[in-house]
Amino acid sequence: MQNNSLKKWMESSYFSGNNGAYIEEIYESFLNDPNNISDEWKQVFQSLPQTEISQEVNHSKIRDYFRSLAKETTNPYSVVKDPDKQAKEVRVLQLINSFRLYGHKEAKLDPLNLKEIDKVPELSLYHHNLADALDESFDVGSVLGLSKDKLKLRDIYSALKQIYCESIGAEYMHINNIEEKKWIQKNLELSLGTSNFTQDEKINFLYDLTAAEGMEKYLGAKFPGSKRFSLEGGDSLIPMIKEIIRFSGTKGVKEVVIGMAHRGRLNMLVNVIGKKTQDLFDEFSGKHGDTWGTGDVKYHQGFSADFHTPSGNIHLALAFNPSHLEIVNPVVMGSARAREERYGDLLGEKVLPITIHGDSAIAGQGVVAETFNMSQTRGYKVGGTIRIVVNNQVGFTTSRPEDTRSTPYCTDIAKMVQAPIFHVNADDPEAVAFVSRLAVNYRDKFNRDVVIDLVCYRRHGHNESDEPSATQPLMYKIIKKHATTRQLYAEKLLKNNTIEQFVPTSLVNEYRDLLDKGECVVKEWRPMNNQNSNWSKYLSHEWDEEWESHLDINVLKELAKKVNSYPDSIKLHNRVLKLYNIRQKMIEENMPLDWGMAETLAYATLVNDQYQIRITGQDSGRGTFFHRHAVIHDQDSSKEYIPLQHISDNQGKFYIYDSVLSEEAVLAFEYGYATAEPNGLTIWEAQFGDFANGAQVVIDQFISSGEQKWGRMCGLTMLLPHGYEGQGPEHSSARLERFLQLCAEQNIQVVVPSTPAQIYHVLRRQVIRTMRRPLVIMSPKSLLRHPQCISSIDELGNGSFESAIGEVDEKILAANVEKIILCSGKVYYDLIDKREKTKNYKVAIIRIEQLYPFPYKKLLEILQEYKHVNSYVWCQEEPQNQGAWYSSQHNFRSVIPEKAELSYAGRPASASPAVGYLSVHLKQQEALIEDALNLS
Ligand code: AMP
Repeated sequence: MQNNSLKKWMESSYFSGNNGAYIEEIYESFLNDPNNISDEWKQVFQSLPQTEISQEVNHSKIRDYFRSLAKETTNPYSVVKDPDKQAKEVRVLQLINSFRLYGHKEAKLDPLNLKEIDKVPELSLYHHNLADALDESFDVGSVLGLSKDKLKLRDIYSALKQIYCESIGAEYMHINNIEEKKWIQKNLELSLGTSNFTQDEKINFLYDLTAAEGMEKYLGAKFPGSKRFSLEGGDSLIPMIKEIIRFSGTKGVKEVVIGMAHRGRLNMLVNVIGKKTQDLFDEFSGKHGDTWGTGDVKYHQGFSADFHTPSGNIHLALAFNPSHLEIVNPVVMGSARAREERYGDLLGEKVLPITIHGDSAIAGQGVVAETFNMSQTRGYKVGGTIRIVVNNQVGFTTSRPEDTRSTPYCTDIAKMVQAPIFHVNADDPEAVAFVSRLAVNYRDKFNRDVVIDLVCYRRHGHNESDEPSATQPLMYKIIKKHATTRQLYAEKLLKNNTIEQFVPTSLVNEYRDLLDKGECVVKEWRPMNNQNSNWSKYLSHEWDEEWESHLDINVLKELAKKVNSYPDSIKLHNRVLKLYNIRQKMIEENMPLDWGMAETLAYATLVNDQYQIRITGQDSGRGTFFHRHAVIHDQDSSKEYIPLQHISDNQGKFYIYDSVLSEEAVLAFEYGYATAEPNGLTIWEAQFGDFANGAQVVIDQFISSGEQKWGRMCGLTMLLPHGYEGQGPEHSSARLERFLQLCAEQNIQVVVPSTPAQIYHVLRRQVIRTMRRPLVIMSPKSLLRHPQCISSIDELGNGSFESAIGEVDEKILAANVEKIILCSGKVYYDLIDKREKTKNYKVAIIRIEQLYPFPYKKLLEILQEYKHVNSYVWCQEEPQNQGAWYSSQHNFRSVIPEKAELSYAGRPASASPAVGYLSVHLKQQEALIEDALNLS
């Protein structure tokens, strides 16, 4: 065929008109791989006229031609020539495709029908020039997955409307993976977007709705005006969650970890997890049970139980949650990951995380994006999270979408990972149950995140004393008249004779009787027996308990060899090789150990004793300051090797991951992980200590207060590089003062280890001792290579962690001492250097290695021989308003003689943590050292 005849052929076919751009897209996919497109399209393109010009030229000609057509076409309703049946069939395929793409825009998602749905031109028959073909039959049944191959357009159109434009709005065409896309298509289209639920299942849904509504009404009547953040309007959440749990059982799920904010939480606690109603009523009445610490308000409480399903019992854990919206999501993921690893479940098939979001929060809170970004990474994936949005269309008082977000849907953020999104009308419980199963199936098949947007409303105000009509007058006029989901569903079931007339009322009464009894109202509730962790040995321990720190030197040496060994086939980078060689020498020639070696040995000893270790953070594999190199990279193949994973055949697991570039979600994930895994060391490392600022909410609301509020222990360790080395305002300070300010009731441990032996021991202590409390380590930067910051192997094997270290220089005789400097961390080395240079042997220097819990006893012992000294100084590198001076001064004073004077040597108070100019930094440093050592 000649070029001009090809042009003629194309002009006379359905390739013309405004179809050009669309068909070009399919054609491009076909060119990349014919299997990328449906069989129907494949046939069309394979039947294209063959030309004498090469296939490639032919393709590019056709492509160019589509492009020119696409440019020329401006009228979306331009008439397309319809020369033959095949052309019409293609247009029918286009129609189907349009529904897949845009059907959700016309779906009836809003129970309140607040806004008129804008018609989408692509969903009309006119748009595809098919208006007069309603009674013609087309051979597209197999595309739609319908039973018959040939179908009338009328039936096709109504099937499309039913699948894509009723109570479910499916968004999945943004997914690039063809298999996933086809799978979703098949699952939606084969069933016409509905399931044939049995009568029992339908009665179950009605019962669950009755429970959801009944509980709120009961609480409303019993405790009028009390805050409960009622679920009303989003009642379908309860049957949805129960259906997800039940159905996930059929996929082999053994544990479900759930995270949610306060809206509907009480309902979830009582109607899904099985909290005793009397316990809740007591909380409403203000009774303080035998709870630990401060406790927390009722709508933050977590709960654990087992749930009976026909496939076996499933353990449920509802994570405790502070008020900060969305921050619980990474916590849930971390908890799920720890549980999965315990099962050896690498795909996440045994543990299902469910996170429940608010519509404004999922769009507004950045931590959500962080968790999506983490969802497929090696260090953080959990085999997919089912994310449910309780979309009540009001963000506190903001109901105008243009004020709450810049995207059409609140769920658009999920598209960053190409997650499928199923919007569903909460007033259609069967559609809700259908998408619940679809989501479970999808996650089970693809191990990826999936989103359900439960479009509902909020029957009352933000809380029960709020008046929503003040800010949403029209919405609340409609809500007042709107029947509840239970009423609507009961009417539907009565109308189609699924249930008898008496059933709805008898369910209401049955549920009410259960509430009156004050017992658990969940029929599926079972006592906990199915969780795979045991915390009993970690409960009720105190920080100063004895622990076994001793380790045979020969064992240490053996382990040191192992952590320095790697296969001959691995070619190390020169600098790494040098470091490994030096470490080798440290052992072979009995040389002192540096920081990196001692830290690595701590890990080696722990995994050797079957403890598990997980380290994540920015650059953690090699260490920000090039000191760790726990992960080595072959310079020829880039292959990685981790010596700490090759210690012995039955060693504990050693995981180390460079984290995604986040602090908030990553730290929350590690908190979740550590609260679910007591038998090991979980470490998060900041690249620089100040980066922890980005995760302050996790530190404030979980790490420092979780045990007091919720009785949840957590042995998480944070490595925060800290020290004044002239790197400017941000990379000098890990904001020690903030951690110290949070210290009370021995909630966390804050340490500033000053030697390799100290980091070795404090890391080991964190695991070997059975107390599980967070450990915050101000870790060093320049000390990693400081010639005096070294320890002997004997200090490792036969030493222990010293919470304070007295004077170690034998030249300093206690009787001659006139002044005592108390300090922590790197400044110690500057002080001893200057003291030596000035031969000022009348000053003793005492290091406080653990600033909290404060080591009174140890310091009193150390100070015993200096009773005659009346001059004390606290020396710090930080400005006066920062560091330990303000927050720990009372502790320093408590260990020095009553009449002694305690002064301050450090930088002057400053708004910024450090100066930006090296010269100023050095001057300040010099001054504070001199000031501290000054005897006058
Ligand atoms: P879960 O698997 O999270 O549902 O926890 C089951 C039970 O283990 C809880 O009810 C607690 O008794 C206990 N438990 C779980 N995590 C912790 C923790 N971090 N600290 C103390 N006890 C815990």
